[in-house]
Amino acid sequence: MRNNELSRELHLTPLINVAGTMTYLGASIVVPEAIAAMQKILPEFVKMEELQRYANGVIAEITGAEAGFITSSSAAAISMVIAGCITKDNLLAIEQLPDIHTPQNEVLVQAGHLVNYGASVDQAVKLTGAKCVAIGQATQCSPYHLENSITERTVAAMYVVSHHVVDHGQLPLSLFCKICHARDIPVIVDAASEYDLQRFLRDGADVVIYSGHKFLGGPTSGIIAGRKSLIRNAWLQNRGIGRGMKVGKESIYGVVAALQAWKKRDHQAVRQRETQALQIWRDGLQEKPGIKVSLVADPTGNPLERCKIVIDPQKAKISAWDLSHLLSAGHPAIIVRDHEAEKGYIYLDPCNLHHEQEYTVLERILDELNLAQQSKEAIITPFEQHILQRQQAALRWPD
Ligand SMILES: *Cc1c(COP(=O)(O)O)cnc(C)c1O
Repeated sequence: MRNNELSRELHLTPLINVAGTMTYLGASIVVPEAIAAMQKILPEFVKMEELQRYANGVIAEITGAEAGFITSSSAAAISMVIAGCITKDNLLAIEQLPDIHTPQNEVLVQAGHLVNYGASVDQAVKLTGAKCVAIGQATQCSPYHLENSITERTVAAMYVVSHHVVDHGQLPLSLFCKICHARDIPVIVDAASEYDLQRFLRDGADVVIYSGHKFLGGPTSGIIAGRKSLIRNAWLQNRGIGRGMKVGKESIYGVVAALQAWKKRDHQAVRQRETQALQIWRDGLQEKPGIKVSLVADPTGNPLERCKIVIDPQKAKISAWDLSHLLSAGHPAIIVRDHEAEKGYIYLDPCNLHHEQEYTVLERILDELNLAQQSKEAIITPFEQHILQRQQAALRWPD
C-alpha cells in the first residue's frame, strides 16, 4: 500500500482515487517537475510581479493568448477576471469592490451553465458585487435569449465548459462569442477541467480559465489567459478583493513547471496506461450478476475514457450509492465517481492511479459485490436517506 507511511503518521485513511481530479481528495498527483520547482523556489525571495511576468510568457506561449497569470484557484480566477471587467484599471474602484459605482454590474450566464463545482459559479461572480443573470432555461438557450439579455448594464458573459453543465440545448461557444462581440461584451470561459489549452481562445473566448491542479498535475492553482487588457485588469485585483485569494511563489513556479512538462508529456503512454486499467476493470467485472460494464468517452471531449458500472440493484443485491459508500468506508478507501449514482451507475476514472492500484480497486469492488450476493437482504438504502446522511455527515466536521 503506497501511502502507508503518511497515513500512519497522520492517522489518515489510505486512499485510492478513481473519482477524478477532486479538490476534496487533494486534486491530482503533482508531477515531479512541479515538485522540484516548488522545492527550489520556496527558500528564495522573488519579486512576485517578475515571477508572474515569467508565468505570463509561458502561458502566452502554450495557450496562444496575449497574456496570462497564475491565480490561487479557478474559482478565484472567475472572481478576479469579473472584478477586472467591472473596475477596468481604476485603482479606486478596485479598492471599493464589492461596492460597484457604475451601472454595469450584470454578468450573463446560460441557465444550464449555473453549476456547482464544489461551490457555485454564481457565487464566484457575486463575490465581486456583480449580479449573475441567468439567460434561457436550464435545458434551452437560444440566440434570442442572449441577444435580448445584453443591455447597458451588461459587463461580461460567462461560458462554462464542464461535465456538470446541461449537455444539450446550450449555445455553442463560437456563436455565444459572436453575439457578445457584436455588442462589445467580453466572454469569459471557465474551462477548469479541460485538456485543450488553445481551443477556447481559438473559438473566440476573450479570457479562458484553467485549473493548475487537474490534468496538468500542478499544485493547487488556476491559470487565466486571454486579452492583455482584461488580464491586466484582473491582475490589478491583487490590490483589492484578490488579496484573500493570493497565490504563493511555490504555486506559481510549480504550475509553470507543470505547464512546461505538459508540453513534453508522453500523452500516448499515459493514455495506454489508463486504457490498461480500464480493461482490467471491464474484464474483471463484466460477468458479475447485475453488473454491466462499458467504457465511456469523456463528455466534454477530453482524451479520456472512464469505466461505467451500471448496477441492477435487485440482481447485484446492492445499489450504486451503497456500493460507492462501502468502498469509500473501506481500508484502503476507494473513492469512485458517483455524482450520478441515483441513476444506478458509478464511474471509475483512471487518471490518478499509482502503480498497480487498479488491481486493488478491482479486488475491493469484487469483495463488496460478493458480500452483497451473500447477504440475506439486498443492500439498498433508500436514496432519500442516503442524501440526508451525507448532508448530516458534512455538518459534523471536525467531529
Ligand atoms: C474544478 C472546476 C472549478 C473549480 O476549480 P478550482 O481550481 O478548484 O477552484 C471551476 N469550474 C469548473 C468547470 C471546474 O471543473
